Amino acid sequence: MYYIEPSEVVKLTEVFGGEEATKVVKLLLEEPGLSDEELAERLGVDVKQVRKTLHRLLELSLVTYTVSFEKENGKRTFRWRLQLEQVVSTVRGQAIRIIERLKMLREFYSTNVVYWCGNASCRKLDFSIAVDHFFKCPYCGNQLQPYDPSEMLKAIDEKIAELSRLLR
Ligand SMILES: [Zn+2]
Repeated sequence: MYYIEPSEVVKLTEVFGGEEATKVVKLLLEEPGLSDEELAERLGVDVKQVRKTLHRLLELSLVTYTVSFEKENGKRTFRWRLQLEQVVSTVRGQAIRIIERLKMLREFYSTNVVYWCGNASCRKLDFSIAVDHFFKCPYCGNQLQPYDPSEMLKAIDEKIAELSRLLR
């Protein structure tokens, strides 16, 4: 059974939801029930921008709102809060999918030798393609060498460990 602390939700929204969504989520986590105008004011951004972000979060069922009417001027106010259960399960699902993809990548690079010219902008190639090109990079013409994946595997392991910690 996985569990995520609410504070970790912010960290994960950062990874999956982008900067704007993270700011809104963070603020609503601290102060549930803020209106669009209050959110815009606190974040120092245009209220239209905030509404756009809120609607995206609403489509994902990550936030919910209540509407109140002010008697004097008939103005409607939307007050927002996080659906924390939803946030946790959506974000958790994303983290699990990413871990699975990283494990597949890890599996691939631990069991296959790939060939590479060393240029960051060129793709790594599997053996049969390298043979087809006589071990010359089809993109830049440099010599292809067996690629040592140990650095990459280390980075993958670190990322998996980081995500797994969030899912503890
Ligand atoms: Zn190349």
